[in-house]
Amino acid sequence: MKKIGITTTVPVEILIAAGYSPVDLNNIFIGSSDRERLVDTAEKAGFPQNCCTWIKGIYGVCLENSIDTVLCVTSGDCSNTVMLMEVLKLKGLNVISFAYPEEPDIGLMQKALKKLAGRLGTTLERATEIRGELERVRHLALEVDDLTWRDGVVSGLENHLSLVSTSDFGGDQSEYERRLQELVTQAKKREPYADNLLRLAYIGVPPVFPGDLYPFIERNGARVVFNEVQRQFAMPNPGRSLAEQYCNYTYPYSVFHRVDDILQQIRQRRIDGVIHYVQAFCHRGIGDIIFRNSIDLPILTLEGNNDFVLNQHLRTRVEAFIDMMKRRASSRSNVSEAGTRA
Ligand code: SF4
Repeated sequence: MKKIGITTTVPVEILIAAGYSPVDLNNIFIGSSDRERLVDTAEKAGFPQNCCTWIKGIYGVCLENSIDTVLCVTSGDCSNTVMLMEVLKLKGLNVISFAYPEEPDIGLMQKALKKLAGRLGTTLERATEIRGELERVRHLALEVDDLTWRDGVVSGLENHLSLVSTSDFGGDQSEYERRLQELVTQAKKREPYADNLLRLAYIGVPPVFPGDLYPFIERNGARVVFNEVQRQFAMPNPGRSLAEQYCNYTYPYSVFHRVDDILQQIRQRRIDGVIHYVQAFCHRGIGDIIFRNSIDLPILTLEGNNDFVLNQHLRTRVEAFIDMMKRRASSRSNVSEAGTRA
């Protein structure tokens, strides 16, 4: 199958139906051992210093990995992608655009999906068959999620990696499924994490330092049991059709759709506190105002830029946040013990 680069989660069913193998350029970038150089390639080409690292990384990946066809999302993801798309065209790449409707309206979504299918030379009927074929692997990813928050046998990092890869199934669906199945089998034999660890939600775009962040949180007496956007990539509410599935996917629309999902998961997963990750120079950082107004829990807003490790400054902030939550939890249990004695 011919590779097609994608800049975010898109209706992959249509791409696969058209004979393409989707490759999430973000995952290639962040998984590369040469991330700094990929960013450098973009800066040398003229991308400004104050442009988001993910955008620069995607550009670097396109140029250095011989990607010749890219599907860019022009509405429902990132305004920077629009200009990235123009630059990629300038560099001679075949660029196809896809726009999520402004509202999660099934009729509008159906039209957008049909337009994309027509552009790629396939049909929604064929894409719907592919949706059925992907169901098993998406279920498996969501089982990993359940094993994280409900059974306590999967780490925050494993959860992140398993879910974030559902945007393109790691570029090889069978291999991805095999790895997930192996993780599920292994995890079911593990001892669960201790009950007294604080339970955190991670909301926002995926971090540029996942390999550092999740284990650091666990070393400090807490664990991430909810990765918001990554879980959305796995389509937890698939609905009855392709159009419904991509309307239920919360990320492209108003942030209030995300808030509803987050609040529901916070209750279900018994979350103690929230880490809101924001990428430097990203418009989505402004959403912090809305999250802080809507979520009645301690929130740490953590900003990453182009350090692919958790630097000392960020470590100190994470430690202080977890310490504060531990003190909060212990003063609450003292109050309730005193109440019981009285
Ligand atoms: S982090 Fe923000 S600015 Fe960067 S690609 Fe994602 S949405 Fe765009």
